[in-house]
Amino acid sequence: MSEVRTRYAPSPTGYIHIGNLRSALYEYLIARVNGGKFVLRIEDTDQERLVEGAVDVIYRTLNLCGMQHDEGPDIGGPYAPYVQSERKNTYLPYAKELVRTGHAYYCFCSKERLDALRGECESEGKTYRYDRHCLGLPQEEIEANLQAGKPYVIRQKMPNEGTTTFHDVVYGAISVDNSDLEDQILIKSDGYPTYNFANVIDDHLMAITHVVRGSEYLSSAPKYNLLYDAFGWEVPVYVHLPLIVKPDGSKISKRKGDASFEDLLEEGFLVEAIVNYLALLGWSPESNQELFTLAELEKVFSVNRISKSPSVFDIVKLRWFNAEYIRAMAPETFHEIALPWIKKGLAVDLPTLPIARMIQPRTEILSEIPGKLGFLNTLEDYSLDIYVHKKMKTNLENSLENLKAVVPVLEEIQHWTEDSLHASILELVGRMGIKNGQMLWPVRTAVSGLPVTPGGAIEIAQILGKDETLRRIRIGIERLTAAVKS
Ligand code: GLU
Repeated sequence: MSEVRTRYAPSPTGYIHIGNLRSALYEYLIARVNGGKFVLRIEDTDQERLVEGAVDVIYRTLNLCGMQHDEGPDIGGPYAPYVQSERKNTYLPYAKELVRTGHAYYCFCSKERLDALRGECESEGKTYRYDRHCLGLPQEEIEANLQAGKPYVIRQKMPNEGTTTFHDVVYGAISVDNSDLEDQILIKSDGYPTYNFANVIDDHLMAITHVVRGSEYLSSAPKYNLLYDAFGWEVPVYVHLPLIVKPDGSKISKRKGDASFEDLLEEGFLVEAIVNYLALLGWSPESNQELFTLAELEKVFSVNRISKSPSVFDIVKLRWFNAEYIRAMAPETFHEIALPWIKKGLAVDLPTLPIARMIQPRTEILSEIPGKLGFLNTLEDYSLDIYVHKKMKTNLENSLENLKAVVPVLEEIQHWTEDSLHASILELVGRMGIKNGQMLWPVRTAVSGLPVTPGGAIEIAQILGKDETLRRIRIGIERLTAAVKS
């Protein structure tokens, strides 16, 4: 078998739709698993849709994800150039060849005529189809029009009858009636090829063996096949990927506000978690393993385990993956990536390393960090009910008593570390003959003012420092004293 060559062929729109990133990932993995080549090709023939800086977004994304391409605009390769606008003159001769062999024809219809035709179809409730007005033009008329410089497009001539069948690795054999296929435009009036045409020409010229794309392109596949056949070229292996839907079954769409890759990063999802999640969004391994590094995927990925039923993009599941990756990180690494978020949440000067250590096991996505840290800035007024905890066996009275007992012990501590706090408090607990929770619960409540905190009493006390911890505990004692008296 010849070398496997896959390509990621994005149109530079300025953001990467997650479905698009999944296509890139599967292309990349198919190349790697087969020891082949992964090619990046920029499909920018739709000049009206060009977005400044959009190609950089593509490079950055591939780079961040670790999907290094083997050939592409920035690194070159044997089939350069890899940007379609730089290949502009490549396509017209191929379209002309199809005209010569009777598989395509010039169309000189004006915009006005086509608009009128579209209007007519609409008013009759039919879907618009080009009416092949220019299909039978006499050769002299075509020549005269071309001589006169009349604007034209070149259209693919679909067979009048019969069916076209193509094979897809995921969806199997699919047949369509040729009479349902429109004479699509191959070369536009600005001389640029359409996406559909350039895509086929380049896949062939770049010796692409596997074409991976979203299932929204399934309906175009027969038209591609007819083009390959018209040229006598070998059809690549088609791998159409299942639609990505939301849990309610609706389609994911950036326009409707659904997250792009960049949005997910901004929300504090980790690249590794997103890649891992996308790998499993439509593909399943032979084992029950869920956590995969890219390197592991490069060994086990296989096209025959891609599913054709729609893949549900479940943000809750993605959060789970993210939390797993966060938990598995070295504390120093987590501190580094969490730092901007910690700083966002802190209004006071506190040590960030212990804060990172405290929140690491309890963080699903980084953007929740600032919201978790407010209690470190100020102690809000809180309800004394929090002191009453059945399981901890605490009530207002013993909370007051235990807080009073802990104050002198804390005052004594010289080196305010987690270890010294732990040793002193537990020594006191032992001496008093109470349960750990009967001390730790009131302390945690007093220092945080919250029923749920991102860390335990000792972690929080260590972060707040001696003075602030004692200040907060004294506030607790004061309020409990007043409550118990009345
Ligand atoms: N340029 C197309 C897109 O961005 C590529 C589709 C394909 O992979 O063939 O959607």
